[in-house]
Amino acid sequence: MPTFEIAGFDVVPVAAGVVALLAVAWLVRALKKEKQPDFVVPMRCPDCGWRGQRSKYNRACPSCARPSLKPAG
Ligand SMILES: [Zn+2]
Repeated sequence: MPTFEIAGFDVVPVAAGVVALLAVAWLVRALKKEKQPDFVVPMRCPDCGWRGQRSKYNRACPSCARPSLKPAG
């Protein structure tokens, strides 16, 4: 079996490493996309004025802890 060498380096493990890195980068991007699903919307708290990205199913305010978050239009 012939070996593929460039300047004394065996390129097969290098190429495998590059492919593995690309696979990891793709996986991280896919996971990041999943972290921001459709039900994460801009929310605001009428009690303390907090605004931010929050699940629309989570009504607990991260600032004042009251369960009164509303979707911000
Ligand atoms: Zn609040």
